[in-house]
Amino acid sequence: MSDLIADITINAPLKQVFSYLVPDSLAEKIRVGMRVAIPFGRRNTIGFILELRSGDGSGLKSIKELLDEQPLLNQDLIRLLRWAADYYCHPIGQVVRTALPSGLGSDKGTAKILHEPVYTPLPKESTPQGQKQRELLEFIETHQNVALGVLRCRFPNPHASLKRLIELGFLQQDFQEVHRDPFLSEPLPDDLQLTLNQEQQVAVSAVAAAIGTGGFTPFLLHGVTGSGKTEVYLRTVKKCLENKRQALILVPEIALTPQLVARFRARFESKGVRLAVLHSGLSDGERYDAWRAIIRGEIQVVIGARSAIFAPLREPGLIIIDEEHEASFKQGEGFRYNARDLALVRGQQQGCSVVLGSATPSLGSYYRSEQGALQRLSLHKRTHFGNMPKVELIDLTSQPPEGVLANRLIEALQENLERREQALLLLNRRGFAPFLLCTDCGQSFHCPNCEITLTFHQREKLVRCHYCDYSEAPAESCPKCQGLNIAPEGAGTERLEQELIDLFPGVRIARMDRDTTSRKGAHQKLLQQMLERKVDVLVGTQMIAKGHDFPGVTLVGVLGADSILNLPDFRAAERSFSLLTQVAGRAGRSCGGGQVLIQTFNPDHYALGCASDQDYAAFFSQELPFRQELGYPPFGHLVNLILSGNNDKLVKSSAKQLANQIGKVTEKVEVLGPSPCPLAKLRGKYRYQILLKSSDRPALRRLIDKIEPMKNMILRGVGLVIDVDPMDMF
Ligand code: ADP
Ligand code: ZN
Repeated sequence: MSDLIADITINAPLKQVFSYLVPDSLAEKIRVGMRVAIPFGRRNTIGFILELRSGDGSGLKSIKELLDEQPLLNQDLIRLLRWAADYYCHPIGQVVRTALPSGLGSDKGTAKILHEPVYTPLPKESTPQGQKQRELLEFIETHQNVALGVLRCRFPNPHASLKRLIELGFLQQDFQEVHRDPFLSEPLPDDLQLTLNQEQQVAVSAVAAAIGTGGFTPFLLHGVTGSGKTEVYLRTVKKCLENKRQALILVPEIALTPQLVARFRARFESKGVRLAVLHSGLSDGERYDAWRAIIRGEIQVVIGARSAIFAPLREPGLIIIDEEHEASFKQGEGFRYNARDLALVRGQQQGCSVVLGSATPSLGSYYRSEQGALQRLSLHKRTHFGNMPKVELIDLTSQPPEGVLANRLIEALQENLERREQALLLLNRRGFAPFLLCTDCGQSFHCPNCEITLTFHQREKLVRCHYCDYSEAPAESCPKCQGLNIAPEGAGTERLEQELIDLFPGVRIARMDRDTTSRKGAHQKLLQQMLERKVDVLVGTQMIAKGHDFPGVTLVGVLGADSILNLPDFRAAERSFSLLTQVAGRAGRSCGGGQVLIQTFNPDHYALGCASDQDYAAFFSQELPFRQELGYPPFGHLVNLILSGNNDKLVKSSAKQLANQIGKVTEKVEVLGPSPCPLAKLRGKYRYQILLKSSDRPALRRLIDKIEPMKNMILRGVGLVIDVDPMDMF
């Protein structure tokens, strides 16, 4: 006899898929992509249906309940997730959970909401009897449409009373959707009617033609800062919508890109196009609402960060990855996927165009465009003002500054302020000073959980760990020599801000870093103040380098340019080049030109030289041979095995044994290490890594499959993380 069988994954670190019998009562309604309640071992859990098939169901347990009325993911996305689970060697259940909006993928929280009921008061003369009912009704009357979630927060167990109020005719219950998205209530800028320049036109036509064919075509849009990439995005999205397909736009960090979102809304909303902005500020309910609207096909354009790559658009025709070089497209923990790379896979699977855009493409993407795997479209010129900013390197080895700022930069700031123009200063470290030092004996202060110095925050009067957030009061005397001369060493944004206040009294100075933007809306407020010219000098971490269009900025200063260059990472030069080029590109976006000053101890380094010439091609041709020589990406593929645990010796010996075992079975894969991770201790755990490197990806893959069984033999009390295509090596 043939039964209906569901292959189900659960949220657990298990690679297996489990088969369950679909009872007749559910057979009509059940679909792939729905969640179900199932018995699992001695408990019940939530499962996710990956596949439905007919077969022999004898001996299988039955599904208990169907939790969704519509699938949460469509077949195409499930195919993408299965591909990703395999490629990144991550359990499918956890991959599914990462893809689903938070609250839906786990057993906890709001996992069971199907619809959010909303209550509206009905006109009625009398008042209800019970005290609780009266309070509930009063609350609903003052707020009108109130969602159940809101009531649950204010009133313990409101269900019985609500039910009674409905029966008595005081309330009406609906399942309408409530749209409360703060991003969508921002005032809109004017939609500029721009005439495309020659290069933009070429780019738009190429992508439009590809969209027209309806197949997979990947592009690299390499456009210098201020070359009008956004306008290219807007036009190609329009083309995609005309083709009756939807568009997906991914940005590195949605909270940092209100301007981009606003430009999309200004262009499309007036034409009746519905956009969804998926961002971390959404509540679970809002995210769920947006998700369902996307599934129902009501949304044509989705803008979001990394995880939006899993947005369940039915038939995407165009996927855009803005600032494709950004490391934040790679998830750093759990399911370590790279949304940029998955965009290309999704494009291939669903037959759509993919545009990777950047002023400083990742070396890998540019290499692939050289090889012809990505079609390169270049915008060499800035739009209406032509000139790129003038960049100058200030050599600190010959003239070390007294404070944080070199004299040359102080003079330039002075002149800029006299002209009443705005300046940006980048210093990629928050806090006052990276560490406190006993100047008598050289003792410094480390985090007890992480192998790293504690950063001194003057305003908070604390030393703080930037990895685990541990904090304590700064020591008044040295625990080693009892000396009293403890001084902050080095500089962070707080110190720079202080120095500016001392140097330029009365000047309006603002700071943008994680400390000043942690409150909701704080970042947007700072951006607004910059645009309204209520700030003369904006100090900040790399946050200020990200895509902003500040027309009033004519001077950009970079401090601590060497900090990234000195990171123990083969991408250190690429990262420095990219950050410096991006921040330099913030200067002179409306007036033409602009000035950029970079303070450095490495004025001869090619990454800095190329950044100051804004010459991507030169950087590429100098960096590539290093990668080739060492077999690093894009020439070789990497997988990093990270072992961690509470006992240093145990982790170390496990790592050694594992490396040994791997060494015995490997072919065509180089095994490097084990070595302590650059962050050898993090959040109380000791960490070692084994780096696998090969130019032969299938060989690398075969090797990883052999590691799985070794794991159980060797590692006790030690965790193993497999990071495929690692982005940072900490
Ligand atoms: P980026 O390439 O750095 O993302 P933007 O898309 O932010 O550049 O564009 C920079 C500025 O140029 C914006 O203010 C935009 O409105 C303007 N712009 C873009 N295209 C044109 C054009 N064809 N003509 C005039 N101005 C343009
Ligand atoms: Zn720490």
